[in-house]
Amino acid sequence: MQAWSKISKMPAPAIKKLQDELLTKMLNEEMAVRHPYYRELFKENNINTADIKGVEDLNKLPFTEKKDIIAPDGDLLHPKKFVLEVPKEEDLKPKKKGFSLFGKKETGPDPADYSFFSLYFTAGRTAKPVPIEYTHYDLENLKEAGARAFDVLELTRDDTLINAFTYAPNAYFWQMFYSTTGIGSTALQTGGGKVLGMEKILKAMDSMEAPVLVTAPGYARLALHTLKHFGFSAANLERIVIGIDYSPLTAVDRLSKLMEAVGAKENRVHRMYFVSEAKSGWAECAPGFGYHTNPDHILVEIVDPESGEVLGEGERGEVVITHLDTRGTVLLRYRTGDIATGGITTEQCPNCKRTVPRIMGDIERCLLHLELQGKDGAVPFNANRLREMMFAREDVLLWYVEINRSNSEDNLRIVVKGTSGTDEDALLKALKHDLDAEFKVPLSVESSTLDAVANQIGMEKYITEQIIFDKRNS
Ligand SMILES: [Zn+2]
Repeated sequence: MQAWSKISKMPAPAIKKLQDELLTKMLNEEMAVRHPYYRELFKENNINTADIKGVEDLNKLPFTEKKDIIAPDGDLLHPKKFVLEVPKEEDLKPKKKGFSLFGKKETGPDPADYSFFSLYFTAGRTAKPVPIEYTHYDLENLKEAGARAFDVLELTRDDTLINAFTYAPNAYFWQMFYSTTGIGSTALQTGGGKVLGMEKILKAMDSMEAPVLVTAPGYARLALHTLKHFGFSAANLERIVIGIDYSPLTAVDRLSKLMEAVGAKENRVHRMYFVSEAKSGWAECAPGFGYHTNPDHILVEIVDPESGEVLGEGERGEVVITHLDTRGTVLLRYRTGDIATGGITTEQCPNCKRTVPRIMGDIERCLLHLELQGKDGAVPFNANRLREMMFAREDVLLWYVEINRSNSEDNLRIVVKGTSGTDEDALLKALKHDLDAEFKVPLSVESSTLDAVANQIGMEKYITEQIIFDKRNS
């Protein structure tokens, strides 16, 4: 990665040129040479990487999907095929190119860049987790991505921060960890609810007078609602940074109002979008201005999820990433399964004036665009939309949905726990009315206890809570 001061101000055509150079270098000098999976794939499909002159030629190359990386039964080492081999002895000798200009010696790759540092995993909410190998080179890039995200968020060493992302071998927790240590701010790495528990996290936030809380959106909502119950104050809280889980703008709005209601000093909410397979997360400078990506690290394409066709700026589509400057696990045209509702833009950010490409809108999961069996045929059901509606409600604290099948017709069973002081009967009635109007499928709504719902969704048990249970095939 290069200097952020330069990259963040680079005009779009210069960024495009830089990405063309990085892409051809990555394809010819890394993937075609020491990437076991792509080297084989190129050979089998008669692909000559030298024919790829830049980003506009990318659509000549195939996509990579999660199922390509996941180890099939009996071949546990399969994901290793996506890891760059350490350069061989003969590659390391200086290349004999005669007199090089300006006396700069052309040397081969440095094996230290390829040496193993750690394995982090994808969250695995919907499929088997995928191991992503980081080398020391990637660790430096993770730190740089973290520093850039903090710059976009305008976080400084004066901001005491409570990191309540769940402790796990994943990019979310560790990028945040390295960001805080890199910047030298006072930070408590709580490990999230799973490690420290809500009461201790809130106590730390209060006693450390921390202005910044970093956590998943559902946990942030629960934290603000239970603050009073535990007897702690949010008087010093200025900002919440949400990430990991579905974070639509409606969640930002809801949390912002909640911060105001509990007497927080300020009510700013920021979003981050982490892609484990991109080995980094990107931040928004302000809600709705898009996730500011790192064009010298990861190339982002937006494609039609059905046809795979590359879409134009601002068009809703699936986020596809290509590694431009990584070692360890390296991915080409990897389909994330995430839909960016506002696509991508290369226009200068009107808020912070940075020029890097921004991923716009909300991030939805492709897998939550479901198809239900109705009486008269298939009925589309966007569970992302259900999540959004439930987050927007002031009267819902926790909830989950079951998708069941009876008499070959599917139905939804929604179980909720209302916020403290809510008239449960009124809540159920209002909820049934609103959901019936939105979703054209049979659905029931019922209430349950805090413990029962929290247990079911795995609050403080998983990286983030599990709220959609498709029981049709079980
Ligand atoms: Zn901006």
